[in-house]
Amino acid sequence: VLSYPAMQARDREPAGPPTILVHAGAGPMGSELREHGQEAIDVLGEILRAAGAQLDSGAAAQAVVMAAVEGMEDCGLFNAGYGAALCSDGSVELSAAVMRGSDRAAGGVAGLHVVRHPIHAAAAVLESGQVLMIGEHAERLALAGGAERWANSDFVTERQRARLIRGAEGPPEDRGTVGAVCLDAHGHLAAGTSTGGINGQPPGRVGDSPLIGAGTWADDRVAVSCTGDGEAFIRVGVARWIASQVAHGVPLQTAAREALDDVGSLDGTGGLIALDRTGQLALPFSTEAMPRGIWQAGRSPDVQLT
Ligand code: ASP
Repeated sequence: VLSYPAMQARDREPAGPPTILVHAGAGPMGSELREHGQEAIDVLGEILRAAGAQLDSGAAAQAVVMAAVEGMEDCGLFNAGYGAALCSDGSVELSAAVMRGSDRAAGGVAGLHVVRHPIHAAAAVLESGQVLMIGEHAERLALAGGAERWANSDFVTERQRARLIRGAEGPPEDRGTVGAVCLDAHGHLAAGTSTGGINGQPPGRVGDSPLIGAGTWADDRVAVSCTGDGEAFIRVGVARWIASQVAHGVPLQTAAREALDDVGSLDGTGGLIALDRTGQLALPFSTEAMPRGIWQAGRSPDVQLT
C-alpha cells in the first residue's frame, strides 16, 4: 500500500532494525516522578525487554505496540487505564488510539468509563472498519470483542484523588499519558497512545491522543505518538504533519522539532516519539521531563526521565 506522495527512492531502501519507542507523558518533573522515578524506569525497561523479545520472534508492529501500551495502562504511575487522571467530577474518562502503518487502518476511542484497557477498545474500532467511536457504544463493541470490564471506581487511585483535590493550586505535576511506536522485522510501522486526559478536565473533553493525525499516526514511512497540551496538538495536527514533512524529504528529527515549535507558538508544551522506516528516531519534548525508552535490535533498553 503506497502512502502519499508516491514512492520515492528512499522508500526502496532496506528498512531499519526492529525498534520500539515508548513514552509516559511529557510534563513537569512532579513530586511523583521525583519519588517514583526509579520505578517508572524499571517498568518501562521491562516493557521494552518484553517488546524486544516479541520483535525478535517476528511479531507485527501493531501487536507489539498494543502489548506495550497495555503494560503502561496497568501501571498506576501513569495517566492511562489504572491510575488515570480524574475529571472535575471525580470520574475517569479514558481515550486511546492505535494505527497500523501497512494499510493505515486506525481506531480511536474517547469517553470510555468501563474498559480496563482502552487500547483494546481502540483496536476493536480499528477492526470494525470505523475509525473513531465514543462512549458507551465504543465500550459495547470492545466488551463484545472480549475486552475486560472494570467499574469506573476501579481506575481511581489515591494519588489521582489527591491531585484533583490539590487542583490548579497544587505544585505542577507530571502528566503521564502513554504511547508507543514500533518498526517490526517486516519493515512495517504502528503507533498507539492512551490517556486519562488532563487532571480536572470537564467530563466530555477530548484531547489529541485518540485523534488520528493529531496525537497518533502511522503510515509505512513514519509512526508518531504525542503527549502534552492536547488542544494545541490538535490545532497543529502534529502527528500527520510530521508524516507529511518526512514524505517530502524533511529529516524526521527536523520535522518533529518544528512541529513542537509550532505547538509552542500556540502556547502549548509537550513531547512526542517518532520513528521512521529507515530506523531514524526522534523523542523531543519541551517540558522538564518525559519518561521515555528505546529498544533497538541488538541493544539493551535505554530509559530516561529528563
Ligand atoms: N495529550 C493529552 C490530552 O490532551 C494529555 C497528555 O499528554 O498529558 O489529553
